[in-house]
Amino acid sequence: MSTQAIAVHLPDGAVREVPAGTTPLDIANSISPRLAAASVAARLIPLAGVAQAAEAGEEPSEAAMYAAEDAAKPRLVDLTTPLTADTRLELVTEKDPEALKVVRHSAAHVMATAVLELFPETKLGHGPATDSGFFYDFYREKPFTPEDLALIEAKMAEVIARDDKFVREHEPREKALADFDRDGDFMKTHFVTKFTVPGDEVSFYRNGKFVDFCRGPHVPSTGRVKAVKLTNLAGAYWLGDEKNPQLQRIHGTAFFSQKEMDAHFARLEEAAKRDHRLLGKQLDLFSIQELAGAGLIFWHPKGAMIRKIMEDWMREECLRRGYSLVYTPHVAKVNLWQTSGHEGFYAANMFTPMELDDANYRMKPMNCPFHILIYKNSPKSYRDLPVRLAELGNVYRYERSGTMHGLLRVRGFTQDDAHIFCMPSQIEDEVEACIDFAKAVLTTFGFKEFKVELSTWDPNDRAHYAGSDENWKLAETSLKTVLDRKGIAYKVIPGEAAFYGPKIDIKLVDVLGRLWQLSTVQFDFNLPARFEMEYVGEDGERHQPVMVHRALFGSVERFFGVLIEHYAGAFPLWLAPVQVGLVPISERHHVYAKKVEAALKAAGLRVEIDDRNEKMNGKIRDFANQKTPYILVFGDKEETAEAVSVRTRGKGDQGSMLLADFIAKAKTLVENQSTEL
Ligand SMILES: [Zn+2]
Ligand SMILES: [Zn+2]
Repeated sequence: MSTQAIAVHLPDGAVREVPAGTTPLDIANSISPRLAAASVAARLIPLAGVAQAAEAGEEPSEAAMYAAEDAAKPRLVDLTTPLTADTRLELVTEKDPEALKVVRHSAAHVMATAVLELFPETKLGHGPATDSGFFYDFYREKPFTPEDLALIEAKMAEVIARDDKFVREHEPREKALADFDRDGDFMKTHFVTKFTVPGDEVSFYRNGKFVDFCRGPHVPSTGRVKAVKLTNLAGAYWLGDEKNPQLQRIHGTAFFSQKEMDAHFARLEEAAKRDHRLLGKQLDLFSIQELAGAGLIFWHPKGAMIRKIMEDWMREECLRRGYSLVYTPHVAKVNLWQTSGHEGFYAANMFTPMELDDANYRMKPMNCPFHILIYKNSPKSYRDLPVRLAELGNVYRYERSGTMHGLLRVRGFTQDDAHIFCMPSQIEDEVEACIDFAKAVLTTFGFKEFKVELSTWDPNDRAHYAGSDENWKLAETSLKTVLDRKGIAYKVIPGEAAFYGPKIDIKLVDVLGRLWQLSTVQFDFNLPARFEMEYVGEDGERHQPVMVHRALFGSVERFFGVLIEHYAGAFPLWLAPVQVGLVPISERHHVYAKKVEAALKAAGLRVEIDDRNEKMNGKIRDFANQKTPYILVFGDKEETAEAVSVRTRGKGDQGSMLLADFIAKAKTLVENQSTEL
């Protein structure tokens, strides 16, 4: 036993002198047994490598599951790993973003243990944690059945109850390979060969009788996998090659507690109910037509009504905020895309060229070059700036067939696109106006929370960026200054800026807490140079304007998809395609129904009468299924009193009300763009 002392630096600044061989678990226990119980792993951060600590959050690659640790980098280790040198130590508890992955990967071992106990002929592939859980690839001639999954789950409960320790062992690589070879473990042989080199010691983990080639880390024992569920069974070819044996991939997920797992599945169920593709069909909002092609959206009358309201709002706001509206073509000659540079760096995302008699043309993937051509069509002086050109522009981008997803991933969409051309001295005001506008979009359409990211350049990598140092500095400073001044919290992502300029991304948070990337304010120091844009300054000299791209909905299609899911199709009154459903109790009330309809229409409300010869309750149900905000029912009593019986979505029967009063109330909600109903 070594008696050498090592120094362990803790996050609170304390330094512990301990004998070499002490484990993170010993240290956790010496701080408090409760901390030890809450820890799932430990993070070792090299003392010299403070600057590298930021890399601790890097996604573990496949190789990271097997290859030797890089002792120069922060790394996760088992709580039982003996410490051998001075180090910084962080105990990874449930609060740590990486903790769940350790639990989930450990759950994959538990699953493999159960599978081998039940089906010993099975050969093991690999079993990593994923963003939503874990999987393990198995090879077995006979396919697993859903009943097998239930058996495996039950066996996993036994493995967990045994609370076997995860123990790390080492073996010479050559012995490991010989053993795997002998047992026909062709996948393990592959992984060991690929991720280790001759002479290596290979790392294994044992829990009970089960042993797996892995470098960890894992939770201390199987009992620490507290809530686990198998979710799905899928086929996959070994190494993705259809000539190889077919593997069976069992997916599962794990959480720190049953409560968290229940909440997770409740959220999934809620999200499935809100799926915009499902609601789009149920509410007859939009479709995608096989005959026309994938990723191309057909807006049906009700969806189109919501789009009209969104677009009207956007155009009015643009005008109110000093933008000019423009319209530009959907295609342009390849020469234009050469000038803009899209033909080079963006060509793979564009529809292929169309050959016409005079030239080759391409569908536009972006509106920017068109707005630049409008700017350049007449000479500009400093007095004309800023020029703000806005368009709801249709763009087309190539996505591989099979990758499309409803309104969210498409081949044709509409950007609420604008380009601002200004002088450097105007940048800050323009950025501020963009951010105010973006916030107005989010709050008007009913989103309360958002997250902001600022992508900046890497000044050490100067050669990779277009534009002057001075402009980069000015743009980044203005973006920061404005966010700070407005008290908006943001995350800086250094080195993430596009080569042509820094940007702000605004991600909204929907009612289920999901993040959606929509608005962007992006500087561009590249296109003004490529198009030789200029203005005559106050000094009489020619200068290049600064260009800002900004989109707030991002894509009208995508924003609509997010709205559908956020509201689960129950759009607020001002957006609802049909705001009021009219239900005359019997045929003799149809005349009064027409009168009510006329009065509502005159007030600008969108109305639908159900005058079918059906039962009243059936008609009410149909409007309710369409998530109509108000349903007005009337018979003799209401007709005599010039009243209506009001049913409000989510609140039920509100009793009788004078028609005039109802109209006044509904009009106020619409005018205020209320999201209350
Ligand atoms: Zn493992
Ligand atoms: Zn643009």
